[in-house]
Amino acid sequence: MQAFAEAILAGAGGDELAAIELPESYRAAHVLASEVDMFAGLDSAEKDPRKSLHVSEVPVPELAPDEAYVAVMASAINFNTVWTSIFEPLPTFGFLQRLGKESVWGARHVLEHHVVGSDASGVVIRVGSMVRNWKPGDKVVVHCNYVDDQDPSSHDDSMLASNERIWGFETNFGGLADLTVVKANQLMPKAAHLTWEEAAVNALCNSTAYRMLVSRNGAEMKQGDRVLVWGASGGLGGYAVQHVLNGGGVPVGVVSSPEKVQLLHELGVEAVIDRKAAGYRFWSDEHTQDESEWRRLGKDIRALAGDDPEIVFEHPGRQTMGASVFACKRGGTVVTCAATSGYMIEYDNRHLWMRLKTIKGSHFANYREAWDANQLICDGKVMPTLSVVYPLGEVGEAAYQVHHNMHEGKIGVLCLSPHEGLGVDDPQTREKVGEGRITLFRRYGA
Ligand code: NDP
Repeated sequence: MQAFAEAILAGAGGDELAAIELPESYRAAHVLASEVDMFAGLDSAEKDPRKSLHVSEVPVPELAPDEAYVAVMASAINFNTVWTSIFEPLPTFGFLQRLGKESVWGARHVLEHHVVGSDASGVVIRVGSMVRNWKPGDKVVVHCNYVDDQDPSSHDDSMLASNERIWGFETNFGGLADLTVVKANQLMPKAAHLTWEEAAVNALCNSTAYRMLVSRNGAEMKQGDRVLVWGASGGLGGYAVQHVLNGGGVPVGVVSSPEKVQLLHELGVEAVIDRKAAGYRFWSDEHTQDESEWRRLGKDIRALAGDDPEIVFEHPGRQTMGASVFACKRGGTVVTCAATSGYMIEYDNRHLWMRLKTIKGSHFANYREAWDANQLICDGKVMPTLSVVYPLGEVGEAAYQVHHNMHEGKIGVLCLSPHEGLGVDDPQTREKVGEGRITLFRRYGA
């Protein structure tokens, strides 16, 4: 893949890239089927991605007619790579087996190794015979909704497709590698004012937050809505608060350190709660929640924002869901896409039905939502939340950082890009948007 990297960095056009011979193997971060039991008996926190994530050469898979090869310049760590690397809640090889039964092309994914990663920026180097809208040389980012067009249920909202999958988590050949194989309908234009690593970190979390808050498939936020955002400087939260601000809402961010409070203030979020300093104890023991602590949170929100939040942006799950349902305004919506702290949820249903609240499930985003969210990145209306960058060879350490909540925003990973700062094609827009705004999270990175 080095020949592609050199050509891309030298500004080669599509014809030149298409003329470079494809290698037989490529460098990729992967877990191994033979190691899925390596952490048996350990607690979640003791399971170490640095031991399970390997970086070495793997064979280049064949290209299906509706797919493209992308030379990956940079990628990102998402929480799903943490889940894959600690084999929780299930080893991801089961997902690959299921995909393998779908078609001859699906069968390619069933391998001893699972190449992980659900974000990428890079350059298209080959397209399959059915691909119409993309060609070698196109600079792209990749969204992770992997869906075919032969399922009737996918034609209203592709996230409803019965065989919808997340690329690099429920499929093989993910983005934490020098090459990736994606469906053409996962491609989107790369923002020309961003570097490879700034462009690589957005698609998964930005699109997810966009669907949860802005889309008619989510909470349909309107001007003036107060939105409680858990983990407001994290992967999802860092985009969620920007969507709330852009849409004329009032974000109330919850974070866990004074530095994160400061970061959010700089981003324009006035109402911020430091949950560590506040010392909330929503659970008095493993089985019992404490309503007085929910009430204390509600009071703190009202003191900052003037009223209860119309929307709660939920993802921590078990630890916070009882408080989220309680704190949400009468008639409001708790929109949830995850359960990092545990998926068996408990809340007091009386607070839900008597006050006519809704809990809405959401998962990633369809192509349209991902495209619209990406347009906001391209227009400089949503900033990348890149805080730290690791080389691909240190992907285990990068995943470890996310696993232990030691990061802000997103962690980027350099693949073919030899160092940071490359890939900006539109310096005028960069200047207009503002270096300080684009690199805000970077200044707070370790
Ligand atoms: P991050 O780790 O980047 O951010 C999550 C933040 O949540 C943390 O930084 C932390 O912020 C806060 N948090 C963690 N645990 C708790 C807790 N017990 N109570 C309160 N706050 C907590 O992860 P992401 O934002 O990228 O992802 C969050 C979850 O969403 C993951 O489980 C991920 O798998 C899932 N996800 C789901 C998607 C989907 O499409 N369904 C898409 C993307 C992510 P702080 O300490 O500052 O409060």
